[in-house]
Amino acid sequence: MKSPLEHIVIVGGGTAGWLTAAILAAEHSIDPKTGAFRITLIESPDISTIGVGEGTWPSMRTSLKKIGISETDFFRQCNASFKQGTQFHNWIQQLDAGYAHPFTLPQSFADANLARPWQQAQRPVPFAEAVCPQLPLFERHLAPKQISTPEYACHLNYGYHLDAAKFADMLRVHAVEKLGITHLSARVKYINNHQNGDIASLATTEGEIAGDLFIDCSGARSLLLGEHFGIPINHKQHILFNDSAIAAQVPYASADADIASCTLSTAKDAGWIWDIGLPTRRGTGYVYSSAHTSEERAQENLRHYVAASAGEAVAERLETKKIRYTPGHREKFWHKNCVAIGMSAGFIEPLEASALVLVEVAATAIADHLPANRAHMEHVAKRFNDNFIYRWESIIDFLKLHYVLSQRRDSDYWQDHANAASIPQSLGARLEHWRHQTPWHDDDQHANEMFPSASYQYVLYGMGFETQPSHTQRRSDANTQRMAGKCFAQNQQRSRQLLAMLPSNRELIDKIHQHGMQPI
Ligand SMILES: Cc1cc2nc3c(=O)[nH]c(=O)nc-3n(C[C@H](O)[C@H](O)[C@H](O)COP(=O)(O)OP(=O)(O)OC[C@H]3O[C@@H](n4cnc5c(N)ncnc54)[C@H](O)[C@@H]3O)c2cc1C
Repeated sequence: MKSPLEHIVIVGGGTAGWLTAAILAAEHSIDPKTGAFRITLIESPDISTIGVGEGTWPSMRTSLKKIGISETDFFRQCNASFKQGTQFHNWIQQLDAGYAHPFTLPQSFADANLARPWQQAQRPVPFAEAVCPQLPLFERHLAPKQISTPEYACHLNYGYHLDAAKFADMLRVHAVEKLGITHLSARVKYINNHQNGDIASLATTEGEIAGDLFIDCSGARSLLLGEHFGIPINHKQHILFNDSAIAAQVPYASADADIASCTLSTAKDAGWIWDIGLPTRRGTGYVYSSAHTSEERAQENLRHYVAASAGEAVAERLETKKIRYTPGHREKFWHKNCVAIGMSAGFIEPLEASALVLVEVAATAIADHLPANRAHMEHVAKRFNDNFIYRWESIIDFLKLHYVLSQRRDSDYWQDHANAASIPQSLGARLEHWRHQTPWHDDDQHANEMFPSASYQYVLYGMGFETQPSHTQRRSDANTQRMAGKCFAQNQQRSRQLLAMLPSNRELIDKIHQHGMQPI
């Protein structure tokens, strides 16, 4: 119980496994000579990765920088492009003008809450456009920076769109060659326990691997935490109905086609379609509820969507991949000397691309609080479990919000989403609060909320939610309105400047491929 933790064993070589390995190794140096601290990643050569997961949060910039990857190499090797947020279509009504959730915070967000003055000013322009300079960039497919902007720096906040398979490959090479991770290509066959029930070793096709801490990144099967320890899934399908996806890659009509600056999310009668622009192709997919539509109908919907932008011929030839998943998360994530990260911990529809960021946050939490020994692990595990249960529930609330605010009632799917029984109590209570107060910093219970009050503002007011201020708030409106007027004007000015100086996504990505960005 008191001997130091020396060997971490990770099972799984998908994005979760390699990202976790790299984040751990970046914070805790591996010394191959003494072997005092080692990380081994076991990856089955015959079980493929899930192969999707192409949208990240801005947090990925911090992670890549931390693990020592050059942003230029990342763009060149991962078919990456810039993601500046998400544009939602047909979520409010069956055919609507759409709204956006950009990554950049509202103007002066540290000390000015512009949501109320925007409502009082009779909403001259959509909320996100009034408070954030990023919106006009979406329409013109512009990049968030210039070629002279150093790696990872920006004019406007951004994450990435990337090719998931290429990303895992790049992480593997970096983790093995630069960070000292030991890579074992082998399938775990069975698990050996200590007397206290901890995992002692893994029997693999290439021999037995003992360890002190085992990280389960084995994908949806959850080999260690789910199958071996029997930690059940806390099912969430009664809240978020989607349990299936059909994914496809769509070619561009020409090599110089525009690359979208944000993920496009288009609501359908039983789910929604994602559309992600990479430099050489688009990645699309229909995420839907199998209880509300058939696979054939979902295929038709996706082909119809692709035909509208890429033509009938492309839509007819489309090769699709079907994915089933169980919406939910494990009842706990750290049990004995085993912790699950990635799909093995759970999965909820990728409406706000929250899976990879959870991998980053979980790996960082383990790296920051790495137990000194087995006795210390109990304490760290309890904190980790409490922290991540809260995070999962926050994500579920935020995703459900998109459905609850929708005015669509054109199918059973949308009617069922409006049913009060499907709305978590925590979300219902917050919505009640926001009928009288706009979301603000004091709504955030944790310093690093998954979705801070700014995100709630973007979605609530983007989707037409009404907040009625109290009579005392209304009295102070003249002052607030003057201050807000200045902020709106500053935002417009910033927007004009950015439009004049920023290159298109395509132009900047081409330049990065040719010349590279300034290293930091
Ligand atoms: C439709 C869809 C769209 C998504 N879109 C996004 C998105 O836009 N943004 C986002 O952040 N996330 C997204 N995700 C989630 C994202 O794809 C995953 O979180 C991410 O790919 C991590 O997966 P993973 O590494 O946990 O699992 P996997 O990729 O499934 O990897 C599992 C690994 O475990 C190994 N393994 C399994 N069994 C054994 C064994 N017995 N022995 C040895 N090795 C074994 C396999 O070989 C593999 O290497 C999406 C998911 C889906 C389903």
